[in-house]
Amino acid sequence: MTTTTTNWTQEKIEALVRPNLLNLKAYSSARAEFKGRADVLLDANESPWPTGRNRYPDPSSTELRHALGKFKNFDPDQIVFGNGSDELVDQITRIFCAPDDAVHALPPTFGMYKVAAGIAGAEFRATNLMTDFTIPVEALKASWDERSKILWLCSPNNPSGNAIDAAVLEDLIVSFPGIVVLDEAYIDFVPARSFLPRLADFPNLIITQTLSKGWGMAGIRCGAAFASPFIIRMLNTIKMPYNINVLTTEVALASLGQPEKMQEKVTTLIAERKRLETELAGLECVEYIFPSVTNFLLVRLKDSAAVYQYLLDNAIVVRNQAYQPNAENCLRITAGLAEENDRLLKTLRKFTR
Ligand SMILES: *Cc1c(COP(=O)(O)O)cnc(C)c1O
Repeated sequence: MTTTTTNWTQEKIEALVRPNLLNLKAYSSARAEFKGRADVLLDANESPWPTGRNRYPDPSSTELRHALGKFKNFDPDQIVFGNGSDELVDQITRIFCAPDDAVHALPPTFGMYKVAAGIAGAEFRATNLMTDFTIPVEALKASWDERSKILWLCSPNNPSGNAIDAAVLEDLIVSFPGIVVLDEAYIDFVPARSFLPRLADFPNLIITQTLSKGWGMAGIRCGAAFASPFIIRMLNTIKMPYNINVLTTEVALASLGQPEKMQEKVTTLIAERKRLETELAGLECVEYIFPSVTNFLLVRLKDSAAVYQYLLDNAIVVRNQAYQPNAENCLRITAGLAEENDRLLKTLRKFTR
């Protein structure tokens, strides 16, 4: 592997942050203001009966950070959790973007990047992916300038299902004049492609992951950001102190303690995705299936609107992607349980239009 040299200094990274945030003091929670042994807690106006729910959660999610850090082989001090990685998308945008700053993304991709830019009043600059969903590197580079603060890269990408080539990724991280956020929401389906082991090489890189997909816990809302100590400090400065609640923490800790269960489910879903791919390819209504390394398939139909409605009429819901650039007539289909996938296939075999 080549060694990368970047021109980032601490000053240059700090200059990307909204100036009013650099010296902002975070809310200091009652529980964070003392060190040492605590037998009697009369500091936070909590109810005293020990239900396991009566105390505020640890604002820095110490135990959870250590559990995830151990599994990922990553420094727990360089992790911060969000109420889903959705929350992290919003926080990252607000740290770096004042109104009139610009963020860049590559549609078709995850919709929250644009929503967060809209909330922050930032300009959303889209450079569409090519028809094979690879990145048009030169066009992307031509689109950024001194107002560019964030580049969102999603690998593997939702909804296309492909991962970004490592050399392209490295080139973009090194060339972009602002913060690159690599959204690895689907990385548990292809862990060897993670850039986490290389994060320390790139001071302008933030990686986000989530417990929502491979870990199967979309309902508890738990996402993680991995970044340099300075960026982690900024994330901790702007986050609400108790964004990760005690119930989420409990469930997440139990799951992280049994990673083999997650891996087993991931293996099953990958096998189901491959089976779906093979079976769907034989159907009359299917035009093309994009290669995927995730738990879903982007499928081009001859008439996606008709198939979408037909599936709905049969109480099967898939995601319409036909409105996204280069995804005309495409539906995104998540791999479900074997019997759910069987029902989808059986229903589609009867589609005759
Ligand atoms: C599902 C998804 C997320 C959202 O993750 P949460 O942690 O549930 O908020 C983030 N990014 C992409 C690309 C996704 O598909």
